Parts: sequence; C-alpha cells; structure tokens
Amino acid sequence: MKSYYYTILIIAALTALSSCSPKVGPYALTNKVYKHQTDSVVSIIEQEQPAMLTDSAGAAIPGEWVGTVNFNLRKPNYVIIHFTAQDSIQQTLKTFTIVKPQVSAHYVVAKDGKVFHMLNDYLRAWHAGISKWGSISDMNSCSIGIEIDNNGKEPFNDAQVKSLLALLTQLKKAYNIPTANFIGHQDIAPARKPDPGPLFPWKLLAQKGFGYWSDELLELAPDNFDYAIALKLIGYDTSNLSAAVVAFKRHFVQTDETPTMTQLDLNILYNVYRKY
Ligand SMILES: [Zn+2]
Repeated sequence: MKSYYYTILIIAALTALSSCSPKVGPYALTNKVYKHQTDSVVSIIEQEQPAMLTDSAGAAIPGEWVGTVNFNLRKPNYVIIHFTAQDSIQQTLKTFTIVKPQVSAHYVVAKDGKVFHMLNDYLRAWHAGISKWGSISDMNSCSIGIEIDNNGKEPFNDAQVKSLLALLTQLKKAYNIPTANFIGHQDIAPARKPDPGPLFPWKLLAQKGFGYWSDELLELAPDNFDYAIALKLIGYDTSNLSAAVVAFKRHFVQTDETPTMTQLDLNILYNVYRKY
C-alpha cells in the first residue's frame, strides 16, 4: 500500500515538473538561429588581427595587434520609426524571422500594446535600407528601428502609442539619444518610403521630448527664406527636392502631402528648422 502512495507522489511530482518546463514556442527554431548569428558576431569581435595596410607602391606597412583594455560597445544614437504596412503582427513577426526578405527591426509594437523585442539594441538591424540623414549614409549602423503594427491607412491606437512612449523613454535614457534624433523612415528615405505617414502622432511625441514639432504661434517666414537649405539643415536629403518636401509635410504638417510649399508650410519649416 505504501509503495502505491509513493508511485502517486512521484507521478504528481513529474507532472508538476513538466508543467514548469518551458514550452516549445513557434519561434524556438528561429531563436536558435538568432543564437547562432550572435555567436558569429562574437567570433568577429574576438579576432585579434592588425589592419593589413599597404603603401602606394603596394608594399606592406608593418603592423601589430596590441589589445587595449579600455572599451565597450558602441551605442545607438537615433531612433527610426516605421509602420509595418502589413495586416497583422503575426505577418510581421514572420517576415522578420525568415531569411528571404532580409529585413528586421529591434522592436515591433503590436496593436494591443505588446512590445516584441527582436534584436539586441547593440546590434545592427536591417530596417532603414538605402537612406541618408545629414551626412550619415548608414542609418542602420547608428539607429534603433521600431516598427508599429499598422497597415498605413489606419490611425495608431492608444495602447500602442502608450507602449511606444514607454519604449522611447527607456531608449532615450539608456543611450542618451538627442531629442532631434527621433525621426521616421520617410525622413531618411523620402524618395522611397512613406512611413510612418501623416497619421503618426509626432506632435504628441514632441511634447514628450521625442523629436520636434512647430510652436503654436508661427512667425511669417522671411521673403528670402530658402526652404531647400532649411530642409537640408534639418537633415533631409534634398537631391530630390519634391520628395524631401513631401516627407517634411508628412512629418511636420500632416494636412496635405503635395510637393508644394504653401505660406503655412514655409512658416512651419521656418519655425522648426531653428530648433535643430
Ligand atoms: Zn519603414
């Protein structure tokens, strides 16, 4: 009789243990690939090799590796905001966990406010693509990419914006990211990308210290105001000026997306560019 009770006890203990063990989730396999990728990054930074240099005649310049003892990881200095332009969060998570699309982001913010963290902040995600801001031509190397689950035609909901603000607060503090450096994909790739679009709450973000917004009272832009120079000073790539104007209006005007600068647009730009 005693052994019968022991058997019951052992079965109960095993059942309890198995319910505590982590479940194999749908991303177990891709998480394994992530681990493998981070291992390959570690093997790159562990290389102890001097720069192999040659002079103009092709002769080797002598070099030697001497490891310093004072260093840490480079920090992100920009946050780039996107909309996913997809119909569901599952679709986006899938896109970022298969190799073929070659795209990723550090964070994806779901409609219910859940934040998916997909890549360590110190690593380079593939979210910006061909882009330029000021003289920076590799935005992926210096930025955190945040994708908002939004199809591009719908308003951003409150739970999502609330989570985004919490995330931005943490990132700004952790990496000392300047207020001016919270921008959108459209800003850094004006001829290619429309996100996060004119429905994105940039005004609210600016009130919380993430990016800039124009003041309530606007001065009249002077007659000799050169808007192309002002856009360039903010950071826009003005090689396609119409595209830069549209991107600026999607971000700072948000009432129309035409490539023309009205007096109001000029006044807003004149007000905003002096904050940079
Ligand atoms: Zn984007």
